[in-house]
Amino acid sequence: MATETHLRTCPLCEACCGLEITTEGDQVVRIRGDQSDPVSRGFICPKGSTLKQLHEDPDRLTSPRIKNDDGTWRDVTWHEAFAEIERRLGPIVDAHTRQALSIVIGNPNVHNLGGQLYLRPLIAAVGSTNIFSASTVDQMPKHVTAGLMWGRPDLFPLADIERTDYLLMLGANPRVSNGSLLTVPDFPGRLDELVERGARVVVVDPRRTKTADKASEHLTITPGTDVLWLLAIINTLFADDLVDIGRLAPHISGVDQVQAATIGFTPESIAERCGIDADVTRRIAHELAEAPSAAVYGRMGNHTTEYGSIASWAADVINALTGNLDRPGGIMFNCAPTQTLAPSEPGGRGFKLSRWVGRVSKRGEVKGELPAATLAQEILTPGEGKIRALVLVACNPVRSFPNSAQLDEAFASLDFMVAVDPYVTASSRHADVILPPTSALERSHYDFAFEANMIRVFAKYSKAVFATDAPREEEILSRLALVVSGKPSTSDPMLIHDSVVAQAVDQEIARESSPIHGRDREEILDVLSEWTWSEQLIDLKLRLGRFGDGFGATPDGLTLRRLIDDHPHGRDFGHLEQRFPDAIKTVSGTVELAPEPIMVDLDRLRSKLPGDHDLVGRRDLRSCNTWMHNVNVLIKGKERCTLQVHPDDAKRLGVIDGEMATVRSRVGEVTAPVEVTDDLITGVVSLPFGWGHGEPGIEMNTARTRPGVNSNRLTDESVMCAVSGNAALNAIPVEVVPV
Ligand code: SF4
Repeated sequence: MATETHLRTCPLCEACCGLEITTEGDQVVRIRGDQSDPVSRGFICPKGSTLKQLHEDPDRLTSPRIKNDDGTWRDVTWHEAFAEIERRLGPIVDAHTRQALSIVIGNPNVHNLGGQLYLRPLIAAVGSTNIFSASTVDQMPKHVTAGLMWGRPDLFPLADIERTDYLLMLGANPRVSNGSLLTVPDFPGRLDELVERGARVVVVDPRRTKTADKASEHLTITPGTDVLWLLAIINTLFADDLVDIGRLAPHISGVDQVQAATIGFTPESIAERCGIDADVTRRIAHELAEAPSAAVYGRMGNHTTEYGSIASWAADVINALTGNLDRPGGIMFNCAPTQTLAPSEPGGRGFKLSRWVGRVSKRGEVKGELPAATLAQEILTPGEGKIRALVLVACNPVRSFPNSAQLDEAFASLDFMVAVDPYVTASSRHADVILPPTSALERSHYDFAFEANMIRVFAKYSKAVFATDAPREEEILSRLALVVSGKPSTSDPMLIHDSVVAQAVDQEIARESSPIHGRDREEILDVLSEWTWSEQLIDLKLRLGRFGDGFGATPDGLTLRRLIDDHPHGRDFGHLEQRFPDAIKTVSGTVELAPEPIMVDLDRLRSKLPGDHDLVGRRDLRSCNTWMHNVNVLIKGKERCTLQVHPDDAKRLGVIDGEMATVRSRVGEVTAPVEVTDDLITGVVSLPFGWGHGEPGIEMNTARTRPGVNSNRLTDESVMCAVSGNAALNAIPVEVVPV
């Protein structure tokens, strides 16, 4: 049988690696890194090649399911599944209003075209303020500070690691995670190149991670205290007269307020709490200020703490005060090929928080969603507006949200749940109807989100490897949107697609600087008619994007067809360019260094200092989302779900390497095998995230052979970042006892 080669982007994490997939008929015979991909250069991690196993996984659902009254499942047709949703959901809305509905969205949605382009109509169809997502579990502090500081919550500051002279990383382990909120294809290779050309890499982490191991310097720190240490760096920049904002000085406001707000955080005052000598803190501040270019980048250990937003803000304040904001080698901002780079003046509508609050928690919304940590209480607490029915899209909150035992109980109490998920997971087992999307190899791909977070300007489209008769995820979400909105289950999902495309075209026709301003909608739709579903929207965005043909305005410009035909490995447009001040969209038109919500939370920080807590999470190269544990090659070998303990602590606590220990927090306990290691500082223990597959009803039979324990049985839903509502997954107070 003839073999075929398919080029595509790996959709499993943010790194956007190019893959070369060889097939024979309907079989994948090889997956390897695409050597000609201009940004990932052949790099691939162990997860990338498992797209074959994920595609062939016998536990992956290929037809919808409805739960029987006795709790067993039956496979049904798509028509029956949507009819059941219509039958069950209507009476709940009639009796309790739309506020009784909720939608919970997981992070795989940003890796899929359906999730990226068709979730908005579904969220609108749900029609309640009970919107939750994984963003308030792992990344909301960065959205919030980007929104407050430059008015654009989705414009992430990107460490320009290809050109920087100095990279300071906190709570980030990109040699294992391959990057987060910073898309760097072949992150390990680029870090090596950075060191080889003489740049300095400093890692701040309570664990000696793989990234820390290869850094120029590793500073250990008490969990949860990064925020104090960053404030001490800011304090030193002012005290030692190191502030030099440079080019952006006329466009930055609030410098004096930052100086006043950080006056008490001297390196000496935080040294003991952070576990970093004052001299070292002062030296790092000088190095950052004196390097020709420098970038401060923080991630999970930095953001998923009680003061995550202050930590996120402080990193970017340092970038600004050292003249590294929007400077090559410092922090840069992407403008992807699907985005426009039209000339504009600084200034805009800014960013607002707390436009509404949760019924029970009274926590404010952020970017249109409520904190994930409050979901269980919004379901369990009786009263008007209680959540009774849930739409779950590509999410496993019973593993990924804090206090998962409470959430498990909450999900079991729902009147109705529909899950869009390829697996029966700890969460989707509570559903009444499951709608399975196709496998990654059966869908086309375009990375809108991650191309916008990449350190280079890049475009790549991936065709589906295998054809299928199953509905596309776009179609599933559109049909679900119609049924949830109250339309008959037999409605044509193209109604949603047509309105999404028409709306996007109309917006451009109305926008004065658009190349299609004032043109006829039908004429534009006619050009797009070569494509259907997501491809129509990709073509539209590429044509109207910064390199696009503008529907004829720039005849040689980019279109989807040209991208496919001329650049099958993807097209690299080069380094990021400076975007400030034009891209600043705060009300003042300046980068606001002292936004009020951060200043207010600094008062809370002063009255309740972090640094007494001990459990931290950790990332494994072979793990990302929970369903990857159903791939044997990713879980075999050495036990990965271990409780790491420092040798001195092991002795003090009486726990022994390889034997079991129980870890208790305020909300729960787990028992895990102990791994004694000096990779951690004393007083800190570590459990990885995403395990715990042994409970009844989970149909992930490979994962069940190595179930591990769920670290979110220990995380406390009542502790969260006050500004962003983000869960605190690190620096959890626990006690450890031998079993
Ligand atoms: S690093 Fe991420 S994108 Fe690259 S192969 Fe691994 S999982 Fe896929």
